[in-house]
Amino acid sequence: MFFYRVPAVVQWMYPGRVWHLDRKSSKVYLTFDDGPVDGVTDFILDQLSERNMKGTFFMVGENIVRNPSLARRVLNEGHRIGNHTFNHLNGRRTTAKEYLRNVTRCTLALEDQLGISTDLFRPPYGRITPQQGRSLTPQYKVIMWEVLAGDFIAGIDEVRSLRKITESTQNGSILLFHDQLKTAGFIKRVLPSYLDFLVESGFQTGIV
Ligand SMILES: [Zn+2]
Repeated sequence: MFFYRVPAVVQWMYPGRVWHLDRKSSKVYLTFDDGPVDGVTDFILDQLSERNMKGTFFMVGENIVRNPSLARRVLNEGHRIGNHTFNHLNGRRTTAKEYLRNVTRCTLALEDQLGISTDLFRPPYGRITPQQGRSLTPQYKVIMWEVLAGDFIAGIDEVRSLRKITESTQNGSILLFHDQLKTAGFIKRVLPSYLDFLVESGFQTGIV
């Protein structure tokens, strides 16, 4: 069973993490995990730019090192960048020490390649242990999501996905998409329609 919207009980169980933002403003927050990846991140940037929209990109350190010019383009076009570890680690399968070291390595890659620092962190797979969470929070805001597109699921019904994510979108929603090779087809077929829905419904986009 796949939930397009994170159940309220899960959000309640992890109160120290950010699941959505201001409900009183008609802004939503588009987030893109795992890039920058050629052929996907650039497509997303073009789509956002056509509609004058902004997003937040949670980048994997090794992809920043591989594609520094694409990472720079994200920054130059007014989007925000967050940390998504250097090697896309699963917190539940990594010691706290190794996990933190990998997060720091991504931060250093951002400093080296782009000259920026970030206080935004998103755990790959949404999985971190309470200990890892506590050791990150002095320095980082842990940003989760409220609405998932399901773009990483092979063979997902894209028409249904588009309907579900439009129905689940509300003021302050944080949306999760992925800019990686596995999701490129989904992103190209579904994201433009979703962005058009936002325009037609009077939503603005903000950066986290
Ligand atoms: Zn990821």
